[in-house]
Amino acid sequence: MERVLEWSILVRFHEKNNGEGMEWSILVRIHEKNNGEGMEWSILVRIHEKNNGEGMEWSILVRIHEKNNGEGMEWSILGLPAIQPRLVAVSKTKPAEMVIEAYNHGQRSFGENYVQELLEKASDSKILSSCPEIKWHFIGHLQKNNVNKLIAVPNLFMLETVDSLKLADRVNGSWQKKGSLEKLKIMVQVNTSGEDSKHGLPPGETVTTVAHILQKCPSLEFVGLMTIGSFGHDLSKGPNPDFQMLISLREELCDQLNLPIEKVELSMGMSTDFQHAIEVGSTNVRIGSTIFGERDYPNKPSSDKAPREIKGQLENLTVKEH
Ligand SMILES: *Cc1c(COP(=O)(O)O)cnc(C)c1O
Repeated sequence: MERVLEWSILVRFHEKNNGEGMEWSILVRIHEKNNGEGMEWSILVRIHEKNNGEGMEWSILVRIHEKNNGEGMEWSILGLPAIQPRLVAVSKTKPAEMVIEAYNHGQRSFGENYVQELLEKASDSKILSSCPEIKWHFIGHLQKNNVNKLIAVPNLFMLETVDSLKLADRVNGSWQKKGSLEKLKIMVQVNTSGEDSKHGLPPGETVTTVAHILQKCPSLEFVGLMTIGSFGHDLSKGPNPDFQMLISLREELCDQLNLPIEKVELSMGMSTDFQHAIEVGSTNVRIGSTIFGERDYPNKPSSDKAPREIKGQLENLTVKEH
């Protein structure tokens, strides 16, 4: 008995401009017919691109359809909306020269975790003159008696670590006194791992704290949630539960306070886990040692690793800052 095999491929390219931006899809249908014992399958790839005036948004839908004689199998993958995460280059313990070098390669967002160090670096005359568009993020624990000092930092762009109502009120008042025309962007830090050594709100207080900021802190602009998370999570055991908790807190928050999800950023991911963080939806990664090399702390034996070349490290990262 001879087997007759017959097959065809259809490729259809469709482009639609519906006035609200571009939409296009490709349909690939591969048809295989095997002498009455037929098998048929098709792949649909739809790429949707939308420009809502506030930036670009796109998603990919891949549907693979397999039909096998009534015992069909069907599955699909829906791509996450593509976001371009912001890269915050964490320059703590590193000299002004390294900040300027990274700036000269196009980096604009930088992070520090000590108020005094941030104030000194951001006020450095070389940085002030060579980096006019620099955006500083404060990512360390903020004590109330340091709020005024932080608010005095030149080019302060975002405070990522608001972790109590009282701190929010204090920052709001201090920013108001400064009389800036723009609100200060802030994130609420959540202690998702529950470790005593980590700062941040208990997860259960997130919604009330954000509600308070929205209603009572007119000088602050709430832009997202931040977590540090536990270190060294083993990915073979599944996604990092700290990241998952931040994602579900955002859902709860948006649900209860009626906020659009794309208005609430997630700051998560550092040198060791930023790829994973981006895969699950981070919009802001904070990366230090991968860019600037290991940090030397006074009480730690100095490492024998050669400092990294900043330009190469920035280019190796798959994220861009914005
Ligand atoms: C130091 C620090 C980082 C960067 O850590 P690396 O492991 O060097 O990338 C990120 N987030 C916070 C809050 C930090 O203090």
